[in-house]
Amino acid sequence: MSHSDTIVALATPPGTGAIAIIRVSGPDAITLVSKHFKPVSHKDLTNQNTHTIHLGHIVDANKVLDKVLVSLFKNPNSYTGENVVEISCHGSPYIQQQIIQLFLKAGCRMASAGEFTLRAFLNGKMDLSQAEAVADLIASDSEASHDIAMKQMRGGFSNEIQKLREELLNFASLIELELDFSQEDVEFADRTQFYDLLGRISEVLKKLIDSFAIGNVIKNGIPIAIVGKPNVGKSTLLNALLNEERAIVSNIPGTTRDTVEDLINIGGINFRFIDTAGIRETTDEVEKIGIERTFHKIENAKLILFLFDGLEADLDNLTRIKKKFPSKEVLAICNKVDLLNAEELASLRKTIPNGIYISAKKKEGITLLEDKLSTLVVSGSLQGDETIITNSRHYDALLKSLEEIQKVKEGMDLDLSSDLLAIDIRQALHHLGEITGSVTTDDLLGNIFSNFCIGK
Ligand code: GDP
Repeated sequence: MSHSDTIVALATPPGTGAIAIIRVSGPDAITLVSKHFKPVSHKDLTNQNTHTIHLGHIVDANKVLDKVLVSLFKNPNSYTGENVVEISCHGSPYIQQQIIQLFLKAGCRMASAGEFTLRAFLNGKMDLSQAEAVADLIASDSEASHDIAMKQMRGGFSNEIQKLREELLNFASLIELELDFSQEDVEFADRTQFYDLLGRISEVLKKLIDSFAIGNVIKNGIPIAIVGKPNVGKSTLLNALLNEERAIVSNIPGTTRDTVEDLINIGGINFRFIDTAGIRETTDEVEKIGIERTFHKIENAKLILFLFDGLEADLDNLTRIKKKFPSKEVLAICNKVDLLNAEELASLRKTIPNGIYISAKKKEGITLLEDKLSTLVVSGSLQGDETIITNSRHYDALLKSLEEIQKVKEGMDLDLSSDLLAIDIRQALHHLGEITGSVTTDDLLGNIFSNFCIGK
């Protein structure tokens, strides 16, 4: 596909809105639009300055289609780095279509998914990981995922990788230079400095690789399992958290046979709550499968909410769960406090001082539980402003880069010859370059940008 022509697309969601924005980008964007735009000022659009807005009418032959505002951005000072015109028209689907058709007839091509951002990348406006962050930013649905995407878009870790890659590239050229003088046994590349650089690169890569686990969890929601005996109120609690009747609530033990999951946003973080079949010995085949699934789900959960009925404190199961999952945080939650008298409640509080006391049915103590959840997670895994990787493509390239860097290190320990070292260094450079986009293939670009929406 050529990227030197002029493209057009609707940038706002399809459908009716107060206004819609149609974007045109490419060398002919301004001249093409000016043919159908009659400014109220009567000044020719092509003579206007960049970053200016103009009121006027979009006209097809002599028919006025709409009164619009036109924003002008001139190459290279635009999102794509090309001439860009953004037309804010009234948000009727008919008007949107008519204007787009008009520009298609005038010589524009319909933009493919992500093509505006692809052009921004090709024109050096952003590196590849920044371009990918644009898609993440559009998709972000919580404060945490927004923060991560925003940081990556501003440069985040790709600047650091780019700098390290350049240092490595310098060494690569020195080592390759040694190959030309192989008869003379010279060393242009200072081995101590080189070793130090490899150490620094490994450290950065390792940190980023480790962050992927957290990043992925934030993007997809932090998995939390709600467990407890049948009838303690797991579904009711889930409903209270979800604020809707989603899980099945009934007082027949064992009704939550399958697992139900839902994303809920608490304090800017997405949690994926997993309601589970109750844990108890059973002969019912369907329920047995449910219980097996419960344990499997718990394996994947970051946090376990152990729910028990205040009337029959189920401390054996609490101990069992803690023992079965020693590495997981278990939060003890006493439900149905509305059925307890003050004395019973006080005695329970003494036995389980760290417990959280709620009534899922009466929606009491739910806010307290929500606060506890967000503080636990925030202090546990979102500390400071460390860079967090959320993209599996980056994760993959980081792993491969680290592997190659380790090979180079080992090669140096074994005193390998420069020609062999050079091969591994080239491989490491290749994988590092895949992250920032210094090394790309059409397939890779096609893959990344096809996931964007049209108009971005
Ligand atoms: P699950 O089997 O653990 O999912 O339990 P359910 O959520 O289906 O609840 C079992 C029964 O306990 C239902 O009749 C609920 O209405 C009731 N229940 C749940 N939470 C409370 C509560 O806080 N107080 C009281 N009094 N009843 C509750």
